[in-house]
Amino acid sequence: MELDEQAVRRLIGAMASTIATHADELTSLDRAIGDGDHGINMQRGFDAVLADLDRIAAKPLPEALAGVGMTLVMKVGGASGPLYGTLFMQLGRALPASPGLAELLAAGEAALAAVKARGKSDVGSKTMLDVLAPVLAALRASAIADPAQRAARLVEVAEAAAEATTPMRALRGRASFLGERSIGHMDPGARSSALLIAAAAQALAPLPASGVAP
Ligand code: ADP
Ligand code: MG
Repeated sequence: MELDEQAVRRLIGAMASTIATHADELTSLDRAIGDGDHGINMQRGFDAVLADLDRIAAKPLPEALAGVGMTLVMKVGGASGPLYGTLFMQLGRALPASPGLAELLAAGEAALAAVKARGKSDVGSKTMLDVLAPVLAALRASAIADPAQRAARLVEVAEAAAEATTPMRALRGRASFLGERSIGHMDPGARSSALLIAAAAQALAPLPASGVAP
């Protein structure tokens, strides 16, 4: 997968744009089981990424992703800032400039492990990990050769995984303070992860016309 400056710009721009479009929704989700700032946090971070996009996108993919990660760490705040920052910085560290599927899987694995370590968390605690892990597993298991169809499949998996956090009880993060009362609400970080994955998948391999809407 050759990613020139235009492609890097499209990828990062698509992620920033979906966060901006869904910021209010993310904040509402966080109002139900957190402190109501997730959309605000994420938008502040991606606004800063956009403000720096010319400089970030001029770099090769690994450095560009590391740049996104550093900006998110500095600007997002909350629990999610260091976690998303870690995710992007580790992707930047692990990916070559022109990754193939194998390299993407290996870098995804490394990034997932880094987020787990940073958050002292794992799958099943009603967090962003409950989207990131199944998407990576689906990418690994996918036998779909067509890039657009594979991207559409990943979007479906990500959205279903975010939905699947609704009946879960939070064991990590602010929502865990609610105990049983965290049940019945989608995790905001799971939703933002699904949005970022959908944007990335669509930016890298445009969906067919019948694909899932962004
Ligand atoms: P804060 O909870 O500090 O207000 P945000 O509202 O920006 O931060 O982000 C909340 C999201 O962060 C949660 O919905 C969850 O997905 C994620 N999160 C919180 N703690 C952890 C953790 N330890 N591991 C993984 N993800 C976490
Ligand atoms: Mg919050």
